[in-house]
Amino acid sequence: MEFETSEITVYEYRWGRRLCGFALTRDSAVEGVQNHYLYGERENTEADSFLGTKWAESNDGDGWWIEPKTVFAVKLPGNLKGNFAEGETAHLIWQCPHCGEYYSDDTAEDTASPQLVCCSCSRVKKYYLVEF
Ligand SMILES: [Zn+2]
Repeated sequence: MEFETSEITVYEYRWGRRLCGFALTRDSAVEGVQNHYLYGERENTEADSFLGTKWAESNDGDGWWIEPKTVFAVKLPGNLKGNFAEGETAHLIWQCPHCGEYYSDDTAEDTASPQLVCCSCSRVKKYYLVEF
């Protein structure tokens, strides 16, 4: 099947060289960092389970960094499933056109279409915009 491609800006966020997530806007990338399971004050934990809360001052600095990237994202159809009235977690169902893998991502009820997702099947990160 052929899918439409669109050029978009992806905001990847990372700590040092470690890519921790991505978002469609800078604001949601900041939110993604602040909600990330590795975001937290280091000294408050016994184990070194958090990376920290500081922001890097350059893209090779120590800390959280948001990097805008222009990418070509493939638009895919998806299915949002879940019985919100029963308080179920919603799931966004989509299939990677590259490897054929099906995904069922936990999604918030108020999730707006399209959602930015990616599959780790290729060495070059491929982004998809799932529309539902
Ligand atoms: Zn894939």
